Formats: sequence, structure tokens, C-alpha cells
Amino acid sequence: MAYSAPRGTVDILSDQSGKWQQLEQLLRTICANYNVKEMRTPIFEHTELFTRAVGDTTDVVTKEMYSFEDKKGRSITLRPEGTAGIARSYVEHKLYSLPEKLQKYYYMGPMFRYERPQNGRQRQFHQFGVEMLGLESPYTDVEAMVLAVTVVEALGLKDIKLHINSLGDDESRDAYRDALKQHFQPVLNELCYDCNQRFEKNPLRILDCKVDRDHPTMKTAPKTIDYLSESAKAHFDKVCSLLDDLEIDYVVDTNLVRGLDYYSHTVFEVISDDPKLGAGATVGAGGRYNTLISELGGPVVPGVGFAFGMERLMIAMGDEMVEEDGLDVYIMPLGNEAKDLSMQIITMLRANGFTCDMDQCDRGLKGQFKSADRFHAHFSMIIGEDEVQKEVVNMKCNHSKEQTIVPLENIVEFIEKHYEGGHHHE
Ligand code: ATP
Ligand code: MG
Repeated sequence: MAYSAPRGTVDILSDQSGKWQQLEQLLRTICANYNVKEMRTPIFEHTELFTRAVGDTTDVVTKEMYSFEDKKGRSITLRPEGTAGIARSYVEHKLYSLPEKLQKYYYMGPMFRYERPQNGRQRQFHQFGVEMLGLESPYTDVEAMVLAVTVVEALGLKDIKLHINSLGDDESRDAYRDALKQHFQPVLNELCYDCNQRFEKNPLRILDCKVDRDHPTMKTAPKTIDYLSESAKAHFDKVCSLLDDLEIDYVVDTNLVRGLDYYSHTVFEVISDDPKLGAGATVGAGGRYNTLISELGGPVVPGVGFAFGMERLMIAMGDEMVEEDGLDVYIMPLGNEAKDLSMQIITMLRANGFTCDMDQCDRGLKGQFKSADRFHAHFSMIIGEDEVQKEVVNMKCNHSKEQTIVPLENIVEFIEKHYEGGHHHE
């Protein structure tokens, strides 16, 4: 039988992993900059965590989860998103009792959703996310949004827009829910099956429907911001004015509701019109959740967070950023004795911090030079029988083409001198 990776999964081959590492490094640097610390939680959790946290009427929970029974019959789910795990861990370890009231975390790693694979949509994909727990302050909402914007700017993503909206507090949402039901009631028979379900269980979600998104009643639907309570309105106004002060571009998108259950107040999406992703693609999304922690058995602790799809970031990044790191030295032995000596030298060079490799295929010079080329080696170190005998190596600088005979004991010194002399590490 011929094996292939399961549908919706991809191999990140070694010619792509450098770009992934670059993205990960940049995200870590930005988070450090914001004093946001990494949290690593399990890839699988008890299924109830997600039904509880994400919401049992959401697409993610009803259709997209990878759930299975383990050998003891417990229902286990591969995490479809990162917030639930962080929230569970926060409650389990009582992190709310730490002296620092505002706890800021980030995570990155694989997530799993059973969806139809297409460009930028996989079954195993990666998210980078941030959660800020402890405060209900609009300053925290804005800090999270600025971090999200910083990420896309640092990656050089073009045609990016920050969309924001407010769902308000419980009071505002009740009023809004009633208004929505009145609005959609007369056209229910024109809406999809899912929307009919949503009408009963969570009418907000109708606005998030991908099937009915062009139905005329979507545009004329009541707007959450017209139903905000006074305090919810004040919160949202403060968010907007802080963004204005920071000169962050945003649009208030009154149809933005987000697919997960736990949101209240501020919700936002980072939307890209980059043609590589297809117009209007969401690269990242998030919002405030004030009841999640208490629903998971913790005290009433508000939070705000967001997640980016890393595959979508990768697509939008293009290839401009990727710089191949070349080798300092590629060692080219000719004959068995030379190979033994190469093994000694390469181990010594690596221990000295140089990046190197050697031929292990017993090829002639021509083939070995090709490898040196492919690895962008600064030096080729040629070791033939003659060199072994004389206890020297032939160092060829692949830039100047200059060749120098160097005694074994002077190799490190030679390379260092050469680099100091204005030649740079490639
Ligand atoms: P969408 O509407 O595109 O399905 P979503 O609302 O389900 O997105 P979230 O749960 O908010 O997405 O996840 C945040 C981000 O994770 C998305 O904006 C997207 O970039 C990415 N993402 C979500 N699902 C997938 C997937 N199956 N494959 C790749 N990336 C994904
Ligand atoms: Mg989805």
C-alpha cells in the first residue's frame, strides 16, 4: 500500500521550515516586547472542556471536532482552538491569585478541525494566539489589538484592515437578540437549515453564516451597537478613542459577531485583501470574553484574546523574508583516510560554533563542489591524500576563489581571521 498524509494535513518540508521558524521567532520577539509570556497546554483535552468553553451550538463543536474515546472510555478531543486550554489551565492552577492581576499569555501550535480543506484551510493547522486575563479594561482590549496589528505590520502584510465591533454585555445582548429574532422571523424559510437552528439557539450566529451571507436581510439587520447598554457603550467608545489616539486604522463593522460563544463587548478581526489569500480573508480574530473563566469553575475573571491562523500568515508573507543561511565550511574529503580526518575536523569546528557539513558519499571533487554550492558554503575545505600526509587542509574561499594551505592546528584561527578581514558570514 502507498501511504499518504491524511486529507487536510500537510508536511512542512525542510525547505519550508526555515520560513516557519522565522515567523515563530518574530512572534516570540513581539510577545516579549509586550511582556506576554508563553503558555503551553496539552494538544488534547477532555471533550467537555470545548463543549463548555467554545459552546455547544458552534460549528466548531457541532461539526468540526476530532473526538475519540481513549482506552478507558473517556471522551477526548484534539484541541480545535487555544483559548479553552489556556482558560482551563488558568483556573486549574489558580493563576488568578497571582500578585500580578493582569496575566498575559501567548501560545502557538497545531489545532485540529474537521473541515473541507482548501487554500488556507486545513484539518491540522497552526494558530498563534494571545490571551490577557484579569481585567475588564478597554486598555487591555486595545493592547491586544495593537499587538495583533503589530504582527501583521512586522510581517509586511499589505491590504490589511482591523474590523471591530461590540457585542455589549449580557443586558445589551438580550435586547439585541430579541431585535434580531424579529428581523429574521419573516424570512426564516429562505435561510439555510443551520440558520434556522441558530435562530432558536443563538440568533447572533446567523450574521456569521457563510451560506446566507448575501441574503438581503443580512445588510439590513439591526446593529449590535444600537443596542448597547450605557456601560457597554462607554467601554466601546473608550476602545475607539484609544485606537484613534494611537492612530490605528480600523473600521467599525456592525455585522461582525464571531463564531464562538464566549465573546462579549469588543470583538475584532484582522482581514486581508491580499490576492494570495483571496479577498476578505480573515487572518486573525478575537475579542473579549468575560464569563469564560467563571463558566469553567473559576472566579469571575474577564479576559480578551485573539488567534491568528499561521498558515494564512505564511501565505501572506510571501517568500521575500526567507534568507538561506549558508554553511561556514563544507569539507570535501578524497579517500578513506581523508574522511577519518574530516570527521575529526568537522567535530572540532562544530564545537567551535561553526556551521559545517562534509561529504559522506565518497564522490569526486565535482559532485562535492556542487554540494558546497547548494549549501552556500563560504569555504570548501579540500582534503586529499597529500593534505593528510602533510597535516594540512586546502581552504578555498568560494567568494574570492582564493585557495590557502592551512596547517590543521591553525584552521579555526584562519577562518576567524578571514571573517575579521571584512569577509562576512554568509
Ligand atoms: P473561518 O471563518 O475562516 O472558518 P473561524 O472563525 O473558524 O475562521 P477562528 O476560530 O477565529 O476562525 O480562528 C482564528 C484564525 O484561525 C482564523 O482567522 C484563521 O486564520 C485560522 N483558521 C481557522 N480555521 C482554520 C483552518 N481550518 N485552517 C487554517 N486556518 C484556520
Ligand atoms: Mg471556521
